[in-house]
Amino acid sequence: MIDLATNLWQVQERIAAAAVRAGRDPAEITLVPVTKTVPPATIRAAYALGLRIFGENRVQEAQAKADDLVDLPDLRWHLVGHLQRNKAKVAVRLFDVIHAVDSVRLAEAVSQRAQEAGRTVPVLLEVNVAGEATKFGFAPGELPDVVPAITALPGLTLWGLMTVAPFVADPETVRPVFRQLRAWRDELARQQPAHPWHHLSMGMTDDFEVAIEEGATMVRIGRAIFGERRE
Ligand SMILES: *Cc1c(COP(=O)(O)O)cnc(C)c1O
Repeated sequence: MIDLATNLWQVQERIAAAAVRAGRDPAEITLVPVTKTVPPATIRAAYALGLRIFGENRVQEAQAKADDLVDLPDLRWHLVGHLQRNKAKVAVRLFDVIHAVDSVRLAEAVSQRAQEAGRTVPVLLEVNVAGEATKFGFAPGELPDVVPAITALPGLTLWGLMTVAPFVADPETVRPVFRQLRAWRDELARQQPAHPWHHLSMGMTDDFEVAIEEGATMVRIGRAIFGERRE
């Protein structure tokens, strides 16, 4: 059994402490609890503790849980994982925010489907800062070329950038990754001031404190709240 209330309390304390260390207001940081593999009953318990946003990385899994939890008011789902273009239609109906737009063609599909659904979808662009072959995301160097085409799409609002840092034993090792994501975000905000670019979705269970010190506004945390996943 996991002690959800204690885990959540501890994570919230650690978020606040990291913010204060960096001279930031903890209220600037949105916790996105990541519930992949977590059953709906546990999400219900988390909701009872006050959580309203939940992050999922698969459209079908999220849809099944959203159907199960349809009686809970104000639930907001964030898609934090890779999205396939053929799921864009379902995604724009289900998710408030899409964190990981990783190609121009996906951005076009999401924009098209968003317009059909009569909404504008807040999105973040995923950046593969460390250039890992196994990860999705734009290479940082291609951002200046691709971003103008994406910001021109009518169905999207560019909320910022997202990254998944390399898995390392010591989170200090990935501090430069977070710092670079922030620098790119600042640069894009200068180049494309019509969009907000306010958000940096970075930091997970193993590295969220360092990410907050480097400017994260959304931290995506799974295991520290819900326990180890048995996939
Ligand atoms: C699973 C996942 C997370 C949460 O990871 P934890 O290490 O469990 O905190 C965050 N972001 C993405 C994209 C994920 O797939």
